Amino acid sequence: MSRILVVEDELHLAEGLRFNLEAEGYQVELAESGEVALERLAAGPGSFDAMILDIMLPGKDGFAVISELRQAGEFLPTLILTARGHPEDVLKGFAAGADDYLTKPFELAILIARMRGLLRRRRWLEASLEASLAAPRAEPQKTDAFVFGDKSVNFDSLELRVRERVLQITLMEAKVLSYLVHHEGKPVSRKALLEDVWDLREDTDTRAIDNFIVRLRRYIEDDPGKPRHLLTVRGVGYRFVASPAPER
Ligand code: CA
Repeated sequence: MSRILVVEDELHLAEGLRFNLEAEGYQVELAESGEVALERLAAGPGSFDAMILDIMLPGKDGFAVISELRQAGEFLPTLILTARGHPEDVLKGFAAGADDYLTKPFELAILIARMRGLLRRRRWLEASLEASLAAPRAEPQKTDAFVFGDKSVNFDSLELRVRERVLQITLMEAKVLSYLVHHEGKPVSRKALLEDVWDLREDTDTRAIDNFIVRLRRYIEDDPGKPRHLLTVRGVGYRFVASPAPER
């Protein structure tokens, strides 16, 4: 039975979510604030399979909760609930490390479908992790990793390997990177990223995208201040280069 932590300060909404999720066969725990949620998660790592996280919370808001969690290396699949659904909020949520989002008011059926999606991905990840642990070391596993320089990224397991380091990236980080990789060598506009990756059509503050790129650079660039793979195209957006020319 999958266990879900619901972080929501509006009691009637929290209770409604619990009632409906339990009816779907999930085990549900409620946390009424970001602080309580972080305490629960710190007390029992691995005791939840997914989290539904409200953004507007008293004290620490949802953005703070998710970024603290990710910084602590905890990759609990998380769906954020945002009351306003402004593109800025959505992007901020993804930049903080959320895996999915839903705007309030939401349809219960959609929330449950999204939850199932997150849990499926988690099961898939666990299975692939076990398989890779069980595989003999001498026999490298066949993976769908995209290799560039001394790095590789696996878009299924969401693992980014930078030499001997293995980083877990979020689904949205993987989506952005995958989009750039697909357009390898070509400039990609911020508008295209917004529309094709985030599915946002409104005019929005593109700084959120730039912040996202800064994060990706920290992962993949030897010197994030002098990027060689993830280049800025002035006035347009970005360009991914898999094999940069050797430095002079
Ligand atoms: Ca709230």
